Amino acid sequence: MKGQRSAKLRLARLGDWHYVSAMTDTHTALTNPLPLAQALIRAPSVTPRDEGALDTLQAALTALGFACRRMPFGEVDNLYARLGTADPVFCFAGHTDVVPAGQEASWSAGPFAGEVHGEALIGRGAVDMKGAIAAFVAATARYLDGTKPKGSIAFLITGDEEGPAINGTKKMLQALEAQGERFSHCLVGEPTNRTVLGDMVKIGRRGSLNGVITVTGRQGHVAYPDRAINPIPALMEVLRALTARRLDEGNAHFQPSNLEVTSVDVGNPAHNVIPGEARAKFNIRFNTEQDGEALKSWIGGEIAKAQQGFTGIISADLTVTGDAFQTPEGPFTALLAEAILARTGISPELSTSGGTSDARFIKDYAPVAEFGLVGASMHQIDEQTPVADIKVLTEIYHDILTRYFEVFA
Ligand SMILES: [Zn+2]
Repeated sequence: MKGQRSAKLRLARLGDWHYVSAMTDTHTALTNPLPLAQALIRAPSVTPRDEGALDTLQAALTALGFACRRMPFGEVDNLYARLGTADPVFCFAGHTDVVPAGQEASWSAGPFAGEVHGEALIGRGAVDMKGAIAAFVAATARYLDGTKPKGSIAFLITGDEEGPAINGTKKMLQALEAQGERFSHCLVGEPTNRTVLGDMVKIGRRGSLNGVITVTGRQGHVAYPDRAINPIPALMEVLRALTARRLDEGNAHFQPSNLEVTSVDVGNPAHNVIPGEARAKFNIRFNTEQDGEALKSWIGGEIAKAQQGFTGIISADLTVTGDAFQTPEGPFTALLAEAILARTGISPELSTSGGTSDARFIKDYAPVAEFGLVGASMHQIDEQTPVADIKVLTEIYHDILTRYFEVFA
């Protein structure tokens, strides 16, 4: 990235002819993803801080001819960039923010040093997902070298994916839609592969519902239960009803939906006191056979049943953090799989497994799939990727761009 910075400085001082030649140098430099990946890692952009990560990316995209604009919301900065005005619009999506480094002393290289040790690039964000963003840029630089896309390429990059995800992709999409921006297809660069580059594309995600059930009774002495209201039996009744139901059997693309009780809290240190309150937490990971709102009303119904004849109060706090979705298999998913097969020799599994990502927001605006590096070390000490994987990922993204505009333009 030092090379790019100096190229950028030169641009400001030189005349038009030199500008073109300096641009070409920068363009060629950008076809190598490693320096950009290192420069991005060196910005310690732990959510919601940016620390120059988006400036670095914006400088690269500007050099490639993209029109860039920042879209800050609250304390989070975001970047939208587009090259071209025509349809179709192929959009790369991702995030420059990272999770904290944890015990820095436990790392074998500085978590924000961006160093290559042996064959591996080590650093926070190496796989999740600064390495993939560098590969987006390098693939685009290669594609633009001699080709003019018969359509548009866009970058939708947030600084708020690892955090609350309130001031990032979701708000960007709302604002961009209001401004008339449309996306034909979107590819998210999350680390989707389990063990080897090419083994998994994500074409959907399960939905997630968080629930807290609070039962309020009346505290009292165990010897005088008629003067107290014990909340525990009522809580057990609700939990028994919720866990007794098998939600569904799954379907061709999803495993069965599952409700998991994660905590039951009474916090009562005494043997002779009936507690005044009991609380439980649970999460439901659900597939496309379910609907978040329908699950909420089922839980509400079970609570209403348990409330009958109970003199305390049962209340619930239910939050759907994402609905289940699946991008239908078709020409888009096929070209992704073909590009991966061509560059790795592996036919990827088209999967809906794993946790949530910003694809849960994008799916309301465009067909979306996810493919990036191998996720084995993400969020861990010594997060790392083979440098070779970033290079092959660049080739895959380049191949995807080529096939995309052949199929959809
Ligand atoms: Zn990520």
